[in-house]
Amino acid sequence: METPSEKDDKLCPSYLAKPGAELFGYVSDGKVQYLDETIVVDKTFVKEAQKGRSPESRFRFAGKCIQGGCAQWDNQNGVCGLTDRILAITEQIEHHTLQHCAIREKCRWFSQRGAKACAVCSDSVRNMEEAFITS
Ligand code: SF4
Repeated sequence: METPSEKDDKLCPSYLAKPGAELFGYVSDGKVQYLDETIVVDKTFVKEAQKGRSPESRFRFAGKCIQGGCAQWDNQNGVCGLTDRILAITEQIEHHTLQHCAIREKCRWFSQRGAKACAVCSDSVRNMEEAFITS
């Protein structure tokens, strides 16, 4: 299994709610509202957030992309396959003006697909991500 490159510090925008994750947005009316700056969440936040619906469906977290350590990583092409799988079925999503996003500079998905990836990210696609992740 490929190990993450030391030099690659890209962030996964589909990270799980766990201590140390960077909270960068929350879902309101089905859209992601982006924070000005990320907030590193702790054990208490995660415990509270786990009450009720899954925290990943209400918030967006980022954390280091582990590349070959993640089932979504496409070893052959050296890219995250999840971005492309979501984009392939969301081409109908209207791409809108880029909003501020505190992780964009280091986001794996943005580095691969630019504004298109931001469009699907902001349209609260976590349920779709979960379907792919668990399939
Ligand atoms: S390969 Fe994709 S889904 Fe996996 S950690 Fe990296 S950005 Fe996230």
